Amino acid sequence: MTSTYTIGVDLGGTNIKGGVCDAAHQLLSQHTLPTEAPGGFEHVLGRMAQLVDELVERSGMPRDAFDAIGVGAPGPLSHARGIIHAAPNLPGFVDAPLRDRFSERTGLRVALENDANAAAYGEFVAGAASDARSMVMLTLGTGVGGGVVLDGELWRGPFDNAGEVGHMIIEPGGRPCPCGQRGCLERYASANAVAERLAEAAAGGEVCALGSKVARGEAFDARDVLAARADGDALARRIWDETCRYLALCMVNLQHLLNPEVIVLAGGLINAGDVLLSGVRSHFQTESWKIAPDHPDIRLATLGTNAGTIGAAALAHREA
Ligand SMILES: [Zn+2]
Repeated sequence: MTSTYTIGVDLGGTNIKGGVCDAAHQLLSQHTLPTEAPGGFEHVLGRMAQLVDELVERSGMPRDAFDAIGVGAPGPLSHARGIIHAAPNLPGFVDAPLRDRFSERTGLRVALENDANAAAYGEFVAGAASDARSMVMLTLGTGVGGGVVLDGELWRGPFDNAGEVGHMIIEPGGRPCPCGQRGCLERYASANAVAERLAEAAAGGEVCALGSKVARGEAFDARDVLAARADGDALARRIWDETCRYLALCMVNLQHLLNPEVIVLAGGLINAGDVLLSGVRSHFQTESWKIAPDHPDIRLATLGTNAGTIGAAALAHREA
């Protein structure tokens, strides 16, 4: 029997999400378990195996109806060797041989992928870029992740670090980044960075509707910045406009390097909707060249938090 179903697993520090996908990349069912990350590598492997058992059982199909498991995981990791080198939210994952050990436990072939790459590939096969042959995705969450698909192939690079769009330098000598560089996109356009930049400007004396929260040391996030912007707050408007411009500048650089058909924006910040999309498109139009009509179509992701599961399954299925 030819196996036509693949399991996708999205391994995070808090939860493990899993789903069953068919060969057309449709997510047929899904299930989530707490990771229990403090238990360490062997314990988390057990949790992942339990998740797979439940997915198989609930599907009502025999195990040999599944051709493989794709795992999207935080890294840095090696796709070729199937090893997670380190993961800040997964204690004990140090050069962890996840692919081979998980394959032993489940009896299924396993493919290991960087979680940002898996999510980008998910949007490529089944989401916002499913009509394209090439795309770049930027995921705007706590940080800024990314993934690159060229001519239908995920581009990992020989060191597995391709697509780290969040660490492209867009402000020389700018805000320091935990990666050791200065001026990374992530320090300007992640959801966290948007709130941080506004807090710094308000603390520096700029008038803002969120100024009293800043003065009291109260926590707030990008949603509060967007709400203040919607209410006409001048500082919130400027911070948001600058965020859109930084993203657009990054996209102009991506355009000239890769000439992708589509650039997809994903992650929590896309809940801003048209305020994000129209802002980025407008700055892109202003900043990009005018000598050739080769602009990428800038779109919002459509799969939400399922992109990683679908993409991991699709990548594993491809290698089957
Ligand atoms: Zn960086």
